Amino acid sequence: MVAAAERLVPCPQCRAPSPYSPANRWRPFCSPRCAGVDLGAWASESYHVATQAPADADDNPEQ
Ligand SMILES: [Zn+2]
Repeated sequence: MVAAAERLVPCPQCRAPSPYSPANRWRPFCSPRCAGVDLGAWASESYHVATQAPADADDNPEQ
């Protein structure tokens, strides 16, 4: 019997097969680079929204 074969999942970033196991700290990504790209996009988008909200609320035109 094969001992707990590592399950391979496609990396959301580059589609490369990556092991979905506790040994892979970047799961479901294949590498820190792929995981960092995704987190960076999410963070920048959140930062963008956060910086726009106060200005929009403070300077609200009557239109
Ligand atoms: Zn990848």
